[in-house]
Amino acid sequence: MDERDLYTEKQEIKRASYSCPKCRQTSEFQIRWIRRTKKSQLPRGADDYLRAKFANARDYLVRVDDMLNCPNPRCRGRFEIPNSQTVVFV
Ligand SMILES: [Zn+2]
Repeated sequence: MDERDLYTEKQEIKRASYSCPKCRQTSEFQIRWIRRTKKSQLPRGADDYLRAKFANARDYLVRVDDMLNCPNPRCRGRFEIPNSQTVVFV
């Protein structure tokens, strides 16, 4: 059992606009995130460490995607998501 057992996971898509560093075209992308929702009860068999984690746990989102593909057919560049925030508390 680990920290993940404290949450229910669900995939989520968020739209965001980024400009390609190669061709400078701004496009909208669908970014995949995992939403971790705290379970309503502490799972059976949780040790003290998980018990403490659970007490302070909050729902959060973890970004799945790191790289984007530029949709511009003359570019097709691959670039890293410029926003370095990969975890968001909700
Ligand atoms: Zn591009």
